Amino acid sequence: MVELYSFKEIEKIRRACMVVMEVLMAVAEHVKPGATGHDLDMIAREEVKKRGGKPAFLNYKPPFSKKSFPAALCVSVNEEVVHGLPKKDIPFKEGDLVSLDFGVIIDGYAGDAAITVPVGKIGKEEEKLMKATKEALNRAVEQCVAGKWMSDIVEAIHSTAEEYGVFPVRSYGGHGIGKKVHQEPFVPNNRKDMGKTNLKLRQGLVIAIEPMFALGTEDTTTASDGWTVITADGSKSAHFEHTVAVTKKGPMVLTEI
Ligand code: MG
Repeated sequence: MVELYSFKEIEKIRRACMVVMEVLMAVAEHVKPGATGHDLDMIAREEVKKRGGKPAFLNYKPPFSKKSFPAALCVSVNEEVVHGLPKKDIPFKEGDLVSLDFGVIIDGYAGDAAITVPVGKIGKEEEKLMKATKEALNRAVEQCVAGKWMSDIVEAIHSTAEEYGVFPVRSYGGHGIGKKVHQEPFVPNNRKDMGKTNLKLRQGLVIAIEPMFALGTEDTTTASDGWTVITADGSKSAHFEHTVAVTKKGPMVLTEI
């Protein structure tokens, strides 16, 4: 069932989203050569606590997993696409792409966002990948007007990837959000994940849109830790995410500072 939210509830979701962004900004400052995902996870836990929020992913047990997620922050480096477990023993190095995904629950409402942060100077291909992913997110957000369709969002994302010659990763995507961090509907990034049913976007629908693009493939595998999703060909990946409310007048980006 797809839940719709009132403006009053959307403001509560926005409050959680603001904390998400503040924490992500604080964490991003520490992305540099020598730092580790574990360092960032510790900072995220501290920053969210200071603001009276609860990390949404810590101990979160998604339907596909038998175990619950052991960290507050998802840290996915280079070929790692999403759900990256923060690592203690592998420091970042110049040229890495570090994707940070964070969710917060405050006062019964959730917010969710992701950014990809370059470590020092990155290559031209990596720059293109980041630009494509960010642009896909912006174009998808523009579709969040009541009366448009889920397929308009998917088309905006997939066609941006094609324009840049990069690949929208299959099987992973965005989701409804509000009283829970992950709700219906699924928001695909790849046309092949659209299925037969479309969904009309209605006022009060709140979704996390999160394109994940890779340089060489749309296919993934899961690492031996059972969580970290990696590109099938080892090519690098980028990930940007906003929480957005659909209204009759257009999109309300709740994770915009
Ligand atoms: Mg999300």
